[in-house]
Amino acid sequence: MGLGALGCATLLALARKGYAVEGFEQYRVGNDIGASGGRTRQHRLIYGEGAAYTSLLQRASQLWQQLEQEQQTQLFWGGGFLTIGTPESAWFQAVENSAKQQDLPHERLSRAAINARFPRLNLDEDEEGLFDPAGGILLTHELLIASAQQAQQLGAEVHEHATVSEITANETGVDLRVNGEIRRFDRVIVTTGAWSKKLLPALPIASRRLGMSFHLGKESGFDSQAFPPTMRVTPGRAMWNTQPLPDGKNFKFFVGDAELNEQHDPQLVATEATDSLTPLLYQRIDQHVAEAVNGGHRTIVGGGTWPEAYTWDQAPLLGELATEPHVWIGIGLSGHGFKLAPALGELLAQAIAGEVDLARDWPLFSPARQFAEPQAVYSR
Ligand SMILES: Cc1cc2nc3c(=O)[nH]c(=O)nc-3n(C[C@H](O)[C@H](O)[C@H](O)COP(=O)(O)OP(=O)(O)OC[C@H]3O[C@@H](n4cnc5c(N)ncnc54)[C@H](O)[C@@H]3O)c2cc1C
Repeated sequence: MGLGALGCATLLALARKGYAVEGFEQYRVGNDIGASGGRTRQHRLIYGEGAAYTSLLQRASQLWQQLEQEQQTQLFWGGGFLTIGTPESAWFQAVENSAKQQDLPHERLSRAAINARFPRLNLDEDEEGLFDPAGGILLTHELLIASAQQAQQLGAEVHEHATVSEITANETGVDLRVNGEIRRFDRVIVTTGAWSKKLLPALPIASRRLGMSFHLGKESGFDSQAFPPTMRVTPGRAMWNTQPLPDGKNFKFFVGDAELNEQHDPQLVATEATDSLTPLLYQRIDQHVAEAVNGGHRTIVGGGTWPEAYTWDQAPLLGELATEPHVWIGIGLSGHGFKLAPALGELLAQAIAGEVDLARDWPLFSPARQFAEPQAVYSR
């Protein structure tokens, strides 16, 4: 239940295995309200977050390529991904080590090389880049809609404007209250993102809103080949992402820093959100977009903030709950889960089919793992 990136991916993975499966979404599939809103998401294969993710990212790429063929629609725009930072910094080194250890194609680019190849990007004098040729951007709404459609073609049922308000599990199955009516299932998988604590209050997650702004390019040079998605992480400076938009003329900008990364009320979800973040966010965007991008308008022509569920170690919670029989979760994608979702959905389906033992093979994602004291999460 909850048909965002992970819910749609899980629905499709279960439908591919022949399960009789139903998906419930409180809004519509492909909505702009949940964490999967905002048109596009970055994809990269070289992953400083840990070697364990590489096989999942490779599998996710195969799965959306398969979906592109099945639904005859473009879901991914290639062109590469550029990590920006100072070469001696921990993040830059983690990304470079990941590329080397996993033997993934990559290019180390000097500032001068980046200026020549991607003239719309503006780096500080001491910064360099690491180019991942397998990176690019994913079209979020299209991907969710295509996944749900494919699942439906394989027999899945999709219920929109269907809000689950209660989950009651016992040894023989699970009752869901959907729009006030009780429905009984053998098992349920909860993929409700930042809303999850409403249903499962004990989950170790915090919800935060991340903001992105859309800008007009003044000149050409904003297509995904000339202006790849980037992530700039330099200690002591603002962390930012740039992304081309699929029209090839305009771009997206994300800025995070210590203040923006503050924890917010874990119960804060879209319907209850205040605008408290907005003035601060827009002030930061104003400050940084002009520094980071050459030939772009600072004026914000779209965008917003979207709620995301974070865990304290930024790895998702994936598996069956020890306390609630037959209740599985896929929650806490922590600001980097869109690109992983098809592979995580498949893992959940494989675990339900008994093909994978998540507790043994993926302890990284165990819902029962213990966390250190909650600390400020770092957004990507
Ligand atoms: C601004 C921003 C930028 C990001 N950038 C990147 C990026 O570049 N690359 C990347 O890989 N990841 C990125 N992420 C992370 C990624 O987008 C998320 O991890 C991912 O989309 C989360 O998907 P989800 O399915 O867990 O949650 P959601 O997409 O939020 O889906 C949850 C769904 O559950 C529904 N729901 C909730 N409660 C109920 C209920 N009771 N009954 C029925 N339905 C319910 C909601 O309406 C929603 O549709 C970013 C996230 C944000 C917010």
